[in-house]
Amino acid sequence: MSTPLLDFDPSAVALPKGHFIGGAYYATDEEQIAVHRPSDGRLLGYIPDASDSTVDFAVSNALHAWKTSGWGTRAPRERARVLTRWAELIDQHAVSLAQLETVSSTRPVAEAYASDVPFTAEAIRFFAELADKLGGDLAATRRDSLGFVSSEPYGVIGAIAPWNFPLSMCSWKCGPALAAGNAVVIKPSEMTPFSTLRLAELAIEAGMPPGILNVVNGRGATTGAALTRHPDIAKVSFTGSTHTGAAIMSAAAMHGTKPVTLELGGKSPQLVFERVADLEHTARCIARGFTANGGQACVAGTRLIAHKNIAEPLIEAVKRQLMPIAPGPLWCSTTAYAPIINRTQARRIESLINDSRAAGAEVIFGGGFFEGTDDGYFHRPTLLANVTADTPAVRQEIFGPVLTVQTFDDEEEGITLAGHPTYGLAAGVHTSDIGQAMRAMRRIAAGTIWVNRYGRSGDMIIPTGGFKQSGIGKDLGRQALEASMRHKSVLIDFDPA
Ligand code: NDP
Repeated sequence: MSTPLLDFDPSAVALPKGHFIGGAYYATDEEQIAVHRPSDGRLLGYIPDASDSTVDFAVSNALHAWKTSGWGTRAPRERARVLTRWAELIDQHAVSLAQLETVSSTRPVAEAYASDVPFTAEAIRFFAELADKLGGDLAATRRDSLGFVSSEPYGVIGAIAPWNFPLSMCSWKCGPALAAGNAVVIKPSEMTPFSTLRLAELAIEAGMPPGILNVVNGRGATTGAALTRHPDIAKVSFTGSTHTGAAIMSAAAMHGTKPVTLELGGKSPQLVFERVADLEHTARCIARGFTANGGQACVAGTRLIAHKNIAEPLIEAVKRQLMPIAPGPLWCSTTAYAPIINRTQARRIESLINDSRAAGAEVIFGGGFFEGTDDGYFHRPTLLANVTADTPAVRQEIFGPVLTVQTFDDEEEGITLAGHPTYGLAAGVHTSDIGQAMRAMRRIAAGTIWVNRYGRSGDMIIPTGGFKQSGIGKDLGRQALEASMRHKSVLIDFDPA
């Protein structure tokens, strides 16, 4: 199939407005939040900042729909049919969805079309296929009794999504929750609300009962917090910073002892041993691992830890990969590089680089923003050498295209450096020695280990989630579906005496 013409005029894209509650757009006269285009800072439009009463209205609608529509009680395969139809509609609207995603987020249209949209459809399809595969367990009990564990939906799940991959994040949160028979109220980031609203429209077109998927717009500190503490939200699923994840966990504990799934920050290593099959391939993995989406990915591989004997040629090979990276309008299909989402994040990146330099780090490639893109926040891919475990850029998540470089003498030192005191989201291990890869895999405390590659594949069966302060629970995989259900233990005596 040939790629359709993706280039478009961003001012011609119609933007959804308001909240999406009970199967329709819901307008309010609440305070309006300005939404800006990240690639040039231009004002795009406004969305409302949902008040407590709007959040309450959305959750009440969701609960009512959940109780009356039969979504949670119908055969899982019936839910699967609706979800599959939803995925088909997403595929059918791939071009317009990619363009909508591109307008307000950091995703270049070619990337949005080639990966974000199909991955979104595929995640929903995956959970549709899984809907009737996990039903509970039979327990080994005495022969005159029957024990089993029955899985059932929670009711209404609150989802809070970040701005870095709005379409995908919506599918990761909503796919398992809906397949398990829950209703959902999702709050996208107020910076990137539009594609989530469009997905909710398509869900209705696919036959999802009105009120089963609702979108409330607003700020995290107000709308997000109101959603978390609402008494009828039975579980919260969140992706974002470790700091906000902790606030959500604490609010969930205080307001109903609710379970949470938290996918949080990372500071993932790319550990390169002395012998790799193809140094250029490794360099490509490393370059892509920290520059994809401008480094704004929780799993970004931002710490290069290279054996001293190959460090120099490897760094040169990484630089060659970085050289052609250039900014451009996100609505041109030739643009591949992402801008930083906003000025606050752009300043944060610069300040962490400056703090690191003050602590002795040296910029050996890149640094600063691309010329001529002052309003567009396109940060140059940047390499920082002369760093230690205490350098701010090594310790803290930057969420920008910045790679720190450390070297090691032997396997033991390399594996030790790969560990991080706070985070444990992902790690890349590059070596042609399978035993060495397995030893590193066993010892690095991270939720995902990639060997001789860096980044997810389209295998939705592989869950994603972190250790330590990188999070609790998993998105994707059967684990995400399991976590969208609560488990009831049943024991039946055949002949009560
Ligand atoms: P946050 O974690 O603050 O925001 C993520 C989402 O949570 C947004 O929808 C946000 O709304 C919402 N939120 C914020 N505060 C609350 C709250 N008290 N209760 C409920 N929801 C809330 O990330 P930021 O956008 O502020 O980015 C800061 C840093 O977080 C980045 O530099 C990066 O390090 C990390 N991050 C990690 C991500 C990941 O994929 N793991 C994704 C995004 C960021 P609002 O947008 O209105 O604040």
